[in-house]
Amino acid sequence: VSAGARGESLLRAVRRLLTGCDGLVVSSIVNVRYLTGFRGSTAYALVLRDAALFFTDFRYQEQAEAEVREPWSVVVGKGTARAGMLREIVNRKVARLGFESSAPFELYEELRGAAGDVQAVGDRVARLREVKTAEEIAAIREAVRRAEVAYREVGPRIRAGVTERAIANRLEERLRREGCRRAPFDIIVASGPNSSRPHAGVTDRKVRPGDLVTVDWGGEADGYCSDMTRTVLVAGKETARKKAIHGLVLRANRAGVRSVRAGLSTRTVDRAARRVIDQAGYGEYFGHGTGHGIGLDVHERPALGPRGTTRIRSGMVFTVEPGVYVPGLGGVRIEDMVLVTGKGYEELTALPRELEIIS
Ligand code: ZN
Ligand code: ZN
Repeated sequence: VSAGARGESLLRAVRRLLTGCDGLVVSSIVNVRYLTGFRGSTAYALVLRDAALFFTDFRYQEQAEAEVREPWSVVVGKGTARAGMLREIVNRKVARLGFESSAPFELYEELRGAAGDVQAVGDRVARLREVKTAEEIAAIREAVRRAEVAYREVGPRIRAGVTERAIANRLEERLRREGCRRAPFDIIVASGPNSSRPHAGVTDRKVRPGDLVTVDWGGEADGYCSDMTRTVLVAGKETARKKAIHGLVLRANRAGVRSVRAGLSTRTVDRAARRVIDQAGYGEYFGHGTGHGIGLDVHERPALGPRGTTRIRSGMVFTVEPGVYVPGLGGVRIEDMVLVTGKGYEELTALPRELEIIS
């Protein structure tokens, strides 16, 4: 599929969203990238029934000409991208203008007077991103590979006496050496009592004997993200209970992954994982959803929570990441990435999941 053909088919899909409005402002920069191919940080796309306009300012003119694909027309006027878009909306007498739910309020304020009327289109453009193309899947695979290479090197260095920050820094450095332009999110290395907070960051705490250490990190390739979590145990006190919790979370992770099938709703995966933890009596210690879609954004649609009603489709990529967090004792999360296929699923994450006990 050529870039132009891809651009055309995406544009047709966006035009099908123009029910009730005759123009749509795409203001989410990730959605702009997805539709047009542009990788810079300031741009808007305006989809009309008879035109597809891409707006940026002079700083990005060259980049836009190189990256923005057919059939988009690049518009670089005087002043800001926003001013250029405003002029087109006025000149073309757009009667009813659609906005994404993520549109900044000030953009909305600025443009709504230019059109006759406005309409909310919610996250319908973001929904187009749920099912990945072969090209996107290839980029995600590379993002997974880079993250795994980094962990295989840094993981074995986790031991008592090393700080969380040192582990995170090494991982980040290794990701960059592997070709990632950035870490797609702040790496989490949470040791001991810190590990019972699912979204702990990184501190200068030194890993101690008896600690569960949760490492949540991801790679990047061609703008696409990966996201995975492993939890290791440093031998010490209450080892048996910590091993049991890890075993429980691993069973929940496997149950979630094995439940993935096109046609089911996303909450089925959440239920499959959650049931294992509930039945073991740890339900109150699993306070987040089981997973999330991943692509150009590290967290994107669909959400895999108890109320997730999105139908699973072939080509979706999401995480399965149950966790159990016991205050005072520590937490375990095991996060893998899954690609939905016609027959079932393919696991994108290849790193071992069995508990590693560091002596
Ligand atoms: Zn994660
Ligand atoms: Zn995640």
